[in-house]
Amino acid sequence: MRLKIFCCPECARGRRFASLAALNIHIGKNHNVPYKIILKNNIPYIKRKAERAQGAYIKEIVPSH
Ligand SMILES: [Zn+2]
Repeated sequence: MRLKIFCCPECARGRRFASLAALNIHIGKNHNVPYKIILKNNIPYIKRKAERAQGAYIKEIVPSH
């Protein structure tokens, strides 16, 4: 079995963690992000905590002139 290493997507230098649990704890403590990372089909996948917020974009205010 190969050991997976997960990189933090929020750290500029991509801190590495040996497990998803450790990565999620790091993200929760160090980054104020509304998601956690899970494994989906064995691929790291960003899962938003607020599912209903997905796809709700803030409208861009464009000057009319
Ligand atoms: Zn980080």
